[in-house]
Amino acid sequence: MTQEFDHIIVGAGSAGCAVAARLAELTTDRICVIEAGPSDADLRVKMPFGLVNLLGGPRDWARKTVPQENLGGRQVSVPRGKMLGGSGSINSMAWFRGRSDDFDGWETPGWGWSDVAPAFEAVEGALQPRRLANPHPLAEGFGRAFGGNDPQSAPTPERQSAGVCHANLHDGRRWSAADAFLRPAQKTGRVEVITGAEVDKVVMDGDRAAGVLLRDGRKIAANAGVILSAGSIETPMILMRSGLGPAAHLSERGIDPVRDIPGIGANLHDHPGVGLHFAGSGSGYGLTLSQMPRWALAPFAWAFARRGVFASPTVEACAFFRAMPGEGRPDAQCHFIPFMLGWKGKAITWGAGYFADVVVSRPRSRGSLTLGADRFTPAIDLNLLSDPYDLQVLMNGIPRLRQILKDAPLDPHRAPEGHPGELVTGDALETFIRKGCGTAYHPVGTVAMGENGPLAADLSLKGVTGLTVADASVMPKVTSANTNAPSMMIGWRAGGFVADRARAAKEAA
Ligand SMILES: Cc1cc2nc3c(=O)[nH]c(=O)nc-3n(C[C@H](O)[C@H](O)[C@H](O)COP(=O)(O)OP(=O)(O)OC[C@H]3O[C@@H](n4cnc5c(N)ncnc54)[C@H](O)[C@@H]3O)c2cc1C
Repeated sequence: MTQEFDHIIVGAGSAGCAVAARLAELTTDRICVIEAGPSDADLRVKMPFGLVNLLGGPRDWARKTVPQENLGGRQVSVPRGKMLGGSGSINSMAWFRGRSDDFDGWETPGWGWSDVAPAFEAVEGALQPRRLANPHPLAEGFGRAFGGNDPQSAPTPERQSAGVCHANLHDGRRWSAADAFLRPAQKTGRVEVITGAEVDKVVMDGDRAAGVLLRDGRKIAANAGVILSAGSIETPMILMRSGLGPAAHLSERGIDPVRDIPGIGANLHDHPGVGLHFAGSGSGYGLTLSQMPRWALAPFAWAFARRGVFASPTVEACAFFRAMPGEGRPDAQCHFIPFMLGWKGKAITWGAGYFADVVVSRPRSRGSLTLGADRFTPAIDLNLLSDPYDLQVLMNGIPRLRQILKDAPLDPHRAPEGHPGELVTGDALETFIRKGCGTAYHPVGTVAMGENGPLAADLSLKGVTGLTVADASVMPKVTSANTNAPSMMIGWRAGGFVADRARAAKEAA
């Protein structure tokens, strides 16, 4: 082993940065954070609209599902941030805790709403999410879709509501977990960050995690333990490459099983969704002759006044609404984007418009993640729409969303539905959904905590010493909204659990 620390955190994403900060605050231990991607020092990370240019590039793992049986064999893209800040450095920054009963529904001791609420408070103290400063008038209009809401308050999955998003932006620039947690933690002098270093596997000493092996052959030792925060796709892969996972599958891939843990890679799920496109002159942002000066001035408007197109994180407003009859809680979410997005399969889409989707809040379809033929490429099977409930929420949700948009005060920027078109209903709507369904980019659940999952309630891997998982993979069920804030909450709490265990181990020694 070349280098030695007390704790190694694998992955400097939304959760990993929070783990580092909490652990540095609660202990005097030496912490190493290992990140596969580069730093986040790139203008496209700081400038909200820049995310459009990051997707599919070197700062995105750019994963894809296997062909999806219920989507006509289509592969669905699974973007994941690969840099300091992780997916929180390429996301749209919309800030939601989830519903309070989401956490009670995890049915894991110590993770009910009253347990997690203080951690959300702490995370929000550091991130200070706030209302978008200069939303497009269309987003303001959509935010008033249900009339009675206070237009300043954030939309919430707790009840039927719409509003302009609250987002983790400071002074018009992205404020990720790397800004709020990692860089302040580095100032303690006890947190070392290594970028451009991809972890191959955890080095096991019997049943104890003793360090990690990097893909370039370097070994780094951890006296107290290893925390995996590589996200819902990469964390289970690292575990499997380490011999921890479903034994038969590991043997098939030529990996000697250290422990047979069938739950690793199981329970993969995400929020399925499908969107409607609206197009018309004088509508949202887009490429039109009249908007050319706006695009030409956009870099300056953002640089000097934090305004204009480049200040938009794309998703500017959201709504939560009921799609299924008899359901009391909102069961669908809409992300409202006041931009003309491409739907014609062309590299550049001309025209002005907007986009609104329907996303299933509490999906029931479950898939799995296994190692592909190459140990570093996952076979991601989200198994989208395998449960008929998910399709039904989308089938009911689209006509409901059309009505919500009709009722919302969008004039004078209102535009007709360009794709698929209002007349698409019934069987044609089902075909449209199967052809267009993607996800909200919230994969979770692949290393779930709880009685039936591989993790104990303190996020330690059952049957193994010194190995903790802290990222979105630990959620037994996805929350009813976007997953960045819950991932940070998990990281913040994991830092506390690991600190407690380290203290107990020192006292026992
Ligand atoms: C395009 C997009 C838009 C989104 N929009 C929103 C939104 O508006 N609001 C919201 O709440 N949520 C949003 N999300 C989801 C949210 O960002 C994620 O749920 C959250 O960031 C997950 O955090 P995490 O810590 O689990 O993983 P990540 O933040 O993805 O962190 C994992 C980190 O581990 C690193 N890593 C992986 N493998 C290795 C390895 N082998 N060795 C070393 N390092 C490794 C990765 O490079 C990455 O930095 C969006 C996600 C995407 C992709």
